[in-house]
Amino acid sequence: MAFVVAIDGPAGTGKGTITKIISKRMNLLNIDTGAMYRSVTLACIRNNVAPNEEKKIEKILDNIDIELKNMDGEQKIFLNGEDVSKEIRTPEVDEQVAKFAALKSVRDKLTPIQRKIGENNNIIMEGRDIGTVVFPNADVKIFLDCSLEERAKRRYLQNLKKGINESYDEVLKAIIERHKLETERKIAPFIKANDAITIDSTNLTIQETVNEVEKIIKSKMS
Ligand code: C5P
Repeated sequence: MAFVVAIDGPAGTGKGTITKIISKRMNLLNIDTGAMYRSVTLACIRNNVAPNEEKKIEKILDNIDIELKNMDGEQKIFLNGEDVSKEIRTPEVDEQVAKFAALKSVRDKLTPIQRKIGENNNIIMEGRDIGTVVFPNADVKIFLDCSLEERAKRRYLQNLKKGINESYDEVLKAIIERHKLETERKIAPFIKANDAITIDSTNLTIQETVNEVEKIIKSKMS
């Protein structure tokens, strides 16, 4: 296995931004597993399939092709050849994704794809179960934490920039609901790995968080 950095943390901690910067600086392939769960969710929404329609979901999973590509320094995700990088980040997908991500069939499809990428590449992979389930033997495990209010504030501002009109209270409520589903699900619940190092980014800038993460990775590389 190549060198694997696992970054787990709740929504809105800045995982995506931080992972992207580190991947460029340290020449690690950046894998956003949340984007994979979001793509499956989008495929189900487009086919009018609800999270309780297991048989229909299995059929969709059989015919789905998900590919992550780095293009001009940006990570893009393709669903059956179509670039869905923007469409997977709508409030509708936000609302549904944790329900689909709780399903065994969905996790059984995506976990092996994620493991395979780590067999041949030096990677930095972000998600909820990377250090616990996908790569329990990862070389570096980081748990990126942040207060609930700060996470909601960051997500709210991110949405404003994207032209998504949701109030702070709506964003906060959605984050709380998603977190409940992620932590209480039976398969691969979102928990901190025992051997993960926690970084609390509540009062840190992006640059300060990047520096902390980089310091930890470097210490494990030598
Ligand atoms: O990180 P992001 O918010 O884009 O992830 C979207 C959703 O995908 C999460 O809310 C979670 O339910 C699910 N997810 C997961 N396991 C992962 C990554 C994401 O269950 N490794």
